[in-house]
Amino acid sequence: MDEDSKVEMSPQVMMARTKEFSLRVMRLCEALPGSPEAWSIRKQLCRCASSVAANYRAAQRGRSKREFTAKLGIVEEEADESAYWLETVIETEMLPEQRVRPLLEECHELLAIVVASIKSARRSAGKPSPSSKPSAIRHPPSAMLIGHGFDLHRLEPGLPLTVGGVKLEHDRGCAAHSDGDVVYHAVTDAILGALGQDDIGQLFPDNDPKWKGAESRVFVEEAVKRMGDAGYTIGNLDITVILERPNLGLHKASIKQNLAGLLGCDLSQVNIKGKTHERVGALGENKAIACHVVVLLIRD
Ligand code: MG
Repeated sequence: MDEDSKVEMSPQVMMARTKEFSLRVMRLCEALPGSPEAWSIRKQLCRCASSVAANYRAAQRGRSKREFTAKLGIVEEEADESAYWLETVIETEMLPEQRVRPLLEECHELLAIVVASIKSARRSAGKPSPSSKPSAIRHPPSAMLIGHGFDLHRLEPGLPLTVGGVKLEHDRGCAAHSDGDVVYHAVTDAILGALGQDDIGQLFPDNDPKWKGAESRVFVEEAVKRMGDAGYTIGNLDITVILERPNLGLHKASIKQNLAGLLGCDLSQVNIKGKTHERVGALGENKAIACHVVVLLIRD
């Protein structure tokens, strides 16, 4: 049976097989002798074999792809340990090999199917398997990464003002090489910062005519692509926009919608705060706009 045909085995069939495997192991354990060594093996073998069935069932009820693959990872570990204890029973001759060997072969078969399922789940999520593409993150990869992004642009009369992909009605706008969207720029830098991959200025130089007047959406899209390539997804992000006028309150929902779409996350994972600068400095005099972003990335 090749890997693809193993992957195609229905979850219902696999749930029945893992449960049957668990029950057969328990019956085998009942036949083990009463020595202290056999009692120890019985305890370990029953535990990991029943865990194979329980965690496979739990994987099917996973609320996300991440939860699904995490549970299957446990199944893989427990099946591997079950194989170890079954081999030990054979090696120590506690039971006749012909009685244990079929269970060991079933265990190896279940293990191969689960490993193939994990690889398939990673492929379908568009994520490289650890062995096929190295992560940009130094090994071992962290379960979570935090990044911070900051951006500021001058506001000058007569220019368009775009904030988080929303065009605001105002008599001033950003003086910038691109469209000057401080939210998109800071989000891009926050993600790149979390990944430890340069910054927006190095990826999209402001002296490159290619990016003149560019929609900043493309910068976020590149950061999101790099995040996916590294095996991470958005945990949440917290954004603070500093702008004296106009009031950002009416536009927060649209900005959140734009970001959630670009980042592939839920609206609840994006928070936006609007602040004024209390009439202090260029920000307070409506001559500049700034944005801070803190982002949490979670390993997928
Ligand atoms: Mg900028």
